[in-house]
Amino acid sequence: MAYDSENIFAKILRGEMPCHKVYENESTIVFMDIMPMSDGHVLVVPKYPAENIFDLSEEYLKEVVATTKLLSHAMKKALVPSGLIVKQFNGSDAGQTVFHYHMHIIPVYNGAPNKNHGYEMEKPEKLEATAQKIAAEL
Ligand code: 5GP
Repeated sequence: MAYDSENIFAKILRGEMPCHKVYENESTIVFMDIMPMSDGHVLVVPKYPAENIFDLSEEYLKEVVATTKLLSHAMKKALVPSGLIVKQFNGSDAGQTVFHYHMHIIPVYNGAPNKNHGYEMEKPEKLEATAQKIAAEL
């Protein structure tokens, strides 16, 4: 499938749709997942028009990994989770629903089960407060 530049993350990258931003550099942006699997669930998104791992350049993949590490440390300090899941999906059969490459960082709290992926919308004020809490530790 060809990259669709009208996907929601492409619109966020172009500033056409809002997000609760946590961090941004030249190559990546990090914002809150609006239907989080747990409190603090963020998405690391490369500023590169790739649908999945197969299309993403190695250079941008390295940038995504570097940003993921930076955010993981900030999230550990800000949210004090007992664990942190880092994962991403490639293709609808694998569970991908937004077709612009992204990495999920999902905190786990004392073994509590996470909510389903893309299931329940979080309140904007809660997302913004958590975004600021994480950003304060960067
Ligand atoms: P995927 O299934 O493609 O790996 O994950 C897509 C993620 O994007 C889901 O966890 C879903 O909750 C999240 N999501 C879907 N639409 C939006 C949106 O408009 N804004 C944000 N911030 N997240 C979204």
